[in-house]
Amino acid sequence: MKYVDEFRDYALAEPLLKELRRSVTTSFRVMEVCGTHTMSIFRSGLRTLLPEGVELISGPGCPVCVTSASHIDAILAIAERTNVRIALFGDLFRVPGSSGLSLANASSQGTKVDIVYSPMDSLELARNYPEDMVVFLGVGFETTTPGIAATIMAAKNSNVDNFSVFSTHKTMPPPLLALLDDPELQIDGLLCPGHVSSIIGAGAYQPLVDRYGLACVVGGFEPADILQALILLARQVGRGEAKVENAYTRAVRWEENSRAQQMVHNIFEPADMEWRGLGMIPQSGLAIREEYGHFDAEKRLNIKLTPAEEPKGCRCGEILKGKELPSQCPLFGKRCTPGNPIGPCMVSSEGTCAAFYKYDQ
Ligand code: SF4
Repeated sequence: MKYVDEFRDYALAEPLLKELRRSVTTSFRVMEVCGTHTMSIFRSGLRTLLPEGVELISGPGCPVCVTSASHIDAILAIAERTNVRIALFGDLFRVPGSSGLSLANASSQGTKVDIVYSPMDSLELARNYPEDMVVFLGVGFETTTPGIAATIMAAKNSNVDNFSVFSTHKTMPPPLLALLDDPELQIDGLLCPGHVSSIIGAGAYQPLVDRYGLACVVGGFEPADILQALILLARQVGRGEAKVENAYTRAVRWEENSRAQQMVHNIFEPADMEWRGLGMIPQSGLAIREEYGHFDAEKRLNIKLTPAEEPKGCRCGEILKGKELPSQCPLFGKRCTPGNPIGPCMVSSEGTCAAFYKYDQ
């Protein structure tokens, strides 16, 4: 695939690895914000090739993982209602709620749950099942939201009445600001997510540089992209610099994608949001605007969030804050495996526990 395969080529990666070795003049610790980076680093074997002195820790950028236990419980509760049909992207299907049961369990008991590949597919479901209220589970960051905003707009324009979205959408960089205020988190730089940055622009990380003096580099997701970003991070740290650099120029500009952001802004407004592990973060989520309240599942179905316990023993919260590794969780690889996940970090295809289990055992 053009713009992808060539960035996976070992012939390109090898000189970049050499350059990274040359560029590391002082040890540094980097948080890869996004779960897609985490998975790519493991899958490509980069983790085992990195020079001494480079430490990578995972951050809060896996959208399924950071969906709070109370949101999962609320989703399970609405799925039980008659005349409700849940539509979702696949990863959330197997995330257990506080009872230990998931939508996969509910589905096996006859609850109506459909995995879709695009939010527009859920609109089609609404047309096909007019007796049901189709609730699309809106989980994701800025990369996901424009498509969901477009779907709500399409529902309104085509007068689809039995369609709504349960918005748990989250935004960057508020969780990073919340994390970096914690003095226990000792990091020298951030590997910033390429796909989110293609919407919010690389300039969105400038406040992190200004406030925390942190090196920030936007990186793509192929091995050569990640190595290029790490080289820039190593150079910044080595020189004692802190700035935003963009190592993913084929997809990301300094400015935001104003068209996508406008689409989102038309439908959603900033709202406080609860994150797994991080708690409530002011203005870190997106709620559906009053004008589109007819498509807001929270309003249509009167969904109330209630406090929910994390699965007993699960360390997802600490892992998402970059404070622990999956291997420090006593359940890892024992009671918690991809076949029997206890927490979302073992379920999601972007989850840190899933990555460690698959590639680091
Ligand atoms: S291994 Fe399982 S129980 Fe432990 S932190 Fe990861 S998801 Fe949670």
